[in-house]
Amino acid sequence: MTIKGVLFDFDGTLTHPGALDFPAIKLELGCPVDQPILEYLETLAPAKRARLMKILEEKEDIAAKASRPNRGAEKCLNDLKNRGILLGILTRNSLSSIKKALQQFQGITTQDFSAIITRDVSQPKPHPDGVIQAARKMGLKSSELLVVGDFRFDVMAGNAAGARTALLTDGERPVMVSEDPEPDFTISHLEAIFDILEDIS
Ligand SMILES: [Mg+2]
Repeated sequence: MTIKGVLFDFDGTLTHPGALDFPAIKLELGCPVDQPILEYLETLAPAKRARLMKILEEKEDIAAKASRPNRGAEKCLNDLKNRGILLGILTRNSLSSIKKALQQFQGITTQDFSAIITRDVSQPKPHPDGVIQAARKMGLKSSELLVVGDFRFDVMAGNAAGARTALLTDGERPVMVSEDPEPDFTISHLEAIFDILEDIS
């Protein structure tokens, strides 16, 4: 089926990797290294969870202001838009962070996205809920979406929702673990999305 929309992960995919230092944040929150932060917070008593959530939000806010568009991101988004491909964002981050970070993008605003699904409104990836919500908002079927991200949760969520998936990798360290679903495509830069679109059109 033809791809009619591209659903991007945000941090490390549309933005340059590294702005969010997850190991440092986990250390500060007392989150085990092998546990994702949001899921760790869910295990805590409400008062402690609220206190640590505040710290996480502060870190995310600083990272959002310091973040920069990933290589080729603005051109990629504009070219997709010009081809009539719908754009979406699906992130475990907050809407406030996404709005701040998008201010660093030239020629791109929140208006360019048909769906911006954050943890404020959906179950976080790897749950497929956000992909399904995004597809609905974009007026597409999940199978008409290409989910692009730099982490295994992106591939897992896209796959579970019946979308096509592309893993963006710097080729340095493996992102997926053995029991994970295979991404449909593995790309080293965002422009390669156009090869995928040609491949499956
Ligand atoms: Mg990411």
